[in-house]
Amino acid sequence: MDKVEWIWRDGELIPWDQANVHVLTHGLHYGLAVFEGIRCYAHQEGGGAIFRLDEHIARLFESAHICLMTVPHDVDSVVEACKTIVTKNGMTDGCYLRPLIYSGYGSLGIAALTNPIHTMVAGWRWGTYLGEDGVKNGIRVTISGWRRPRGDAFSPKGKISGQYVLSILAKREAMAAGFEEAIFLDDNGYAVEGTGENLFVIKQGVVRTPSIGQAILGGITRDTAMTLLRSENIDIVEGPITRDELFTADEIFLTGTAAEVTPVREIDGRVVGKGKPGPITEMMKTKYAACVRGELEDYGHWITRVS
Ligand code: PMP
Repeated sequence: MDKVEWIWRDGELIPWDQANVHVLTHGLHYGLAVFEGIRCYAHQEGGGAIFRLDEHIARLFESAHICLMTVPHDVDSVVEACKTIVTKNGMTDGCYLRPLIYSGYGSLGIAALTNPIHTMVAGWRWGTYLGEDGVKNGIRVTISGWRRPRGDAFSPKGKISGQYVLSILAKREAMAAGFEEAIFLDDNGYAVEGTGENLFVIKQGVVRTPSIGQAILGGITRDTAMTLLRSENIDIVEGPITRDELFTADEIFLTGTAAEVTPVREIDGRVVGKGKPGPITEMMKTKYAACVRGELEDYGHWITRVS
């Protein structure tokens, strides 16, 4: 990652190299921190376009709420901090933003109810998450041996740092086996999501994606994709998807702020469809790219412009 000048923490801009924590920070030991990943794109008319900023910060505060963390900053100040990080660091041409709320230094007891809660926002330039070739031609994925736990065993709706160890395990094992990404099955054996992406499967023109009641994150890109698909009069069925439905799909794509719309061309040795991105996936990629850059008038309300 290429460093930039400023990071925002607890209401102040501090130089990148000084944005450190103590080794006894509670969140570092037990993973009590919540975060977001947001992208800013170059707007077609100039300046930056932060995509669905309000929804991301709302989800950040929801994650904190799930964790019983009382955040000493309000939503508006974190929204403003995101804009400031883009402008002060001169990144209106595009960047990735990472807000994080974490349990700070104090007690190392598990509950640590009185430890300070810190909020920070950093940003840096980050290209395609799953590679240029992956976005263009599709990636190879494997089904992980790790299960996405049910909502009574972990909290799929929260972007809670400690929970991401499961994604790290699945992703590292997939990469060690020569794949680009892993798909999780849930407790019932249904395919639910990637390590940092939601899942879409297409068969005979019908798009399917796991329902929000399953063990998935309520992805903002998932919602964007569903809205854009519906605007093209394409039906979406939300519900369980089996492993063999992945093997026999015409098209599969993954969605995420980092991954954007990434086609899947192979899954555990089975070629998906024709082995290259299919027509609905290609349409999604194009429409998503236009949408985030402010080229689709109907979705201007999803964009926060910064200059
Ligand atoms: N699922 C998981 C587990 C994720 O970490 C992410 C990335 N935030 C997503 C799905 C996609 O969510 P979004 O589209 O909001 O980035």
